[in-house]
Amino acid sequence: MTRNEPSEERWSQLRLDMVDRQLRSRGIRDKRVLDAMSTIPRHRFIPPERRCDAYEDRALPVRCGQTISQPYIVAYMTEQLEVSESDSVLEIGTGTGYQTAVLARLCRHVHSVERIAELQAQAQTTLGELNITNITFSLGDGSVGLPKIGPFDRIVVTAGAPGIPKPLTEQLADGGRMVLPVGGPHEQTIVRVVRQGSRTVETPSLACRFVKLIGTEGWSATR
Ligand code: SAH
Repeated sequence: MTRNEPSEERWSQLRLDMVDRQLRSRGIRDKRVLDAMSTIPRHRFIPPERRCDAYEDRALPVRCGQTISQPYIVAYMTEQLEVSESDSVLEIGTGTGYQTAVLARLCRHVHSVERIAELQAQAQTTLGELNITNITFSLGDGSVGLPKIGPFDRIVVTAGAPGIPKPLTEQLADGGRMVLPVGGPHEQTIVRVVRQGSRTVETPSLACRFVKLIGTEGWSATR
């Protein structure tokens, strides 16, 4: 902890303000999502040099050229996912682990996949310190999902995909839903996919901007 870091009380006040001003006032209604985001210490997921911006209304750069999503986007995607306590959830793009923590509060188990080992290790440390234990971490290309573990009740992708990855749709349980950003490398639209037997219903909604999903069903790596 640096000398000028706010007290836990101050962090908590900033977090409740964030929930009121950025989430409730913009129409996030799901009480479980609001409760989770009112209690999970988002600042703990952010590198010390950017920590003071933890509750600002925007995405922030983190390690390895990646980002932690804007709080509103995390809330919006989680609300769209309609997670229930008994659900098994697949998350692609662990990143800092913040979205993972929100999901873990709402469901039975989260399987979270990240392609960058350094980010995965940091997320595991943070989530371990917070005693959030209903998570299994996998390292690799999550654009193809986890076929040996699925099907999943819910799937969320937190990196921008050029299209809806077929292996992920196939790993959705019947009646399951997936929420992901789909579009070009610089701008995407959040799409909700609901599986009903052999057909899927896709509903696009909000414009957004995520880092690229890199892999077999995503973009090719640029380096
Ligand atoms: N949900 C994160 C934000 C993630 S940023 C959070 O709350 O912090 C997107 C993440 O997706 C990055 O960490 C990136 O490395 C990861 N990613 C990109 N392509 C991936 C792939 N094919 N499989 C797994 N992770 C991937």
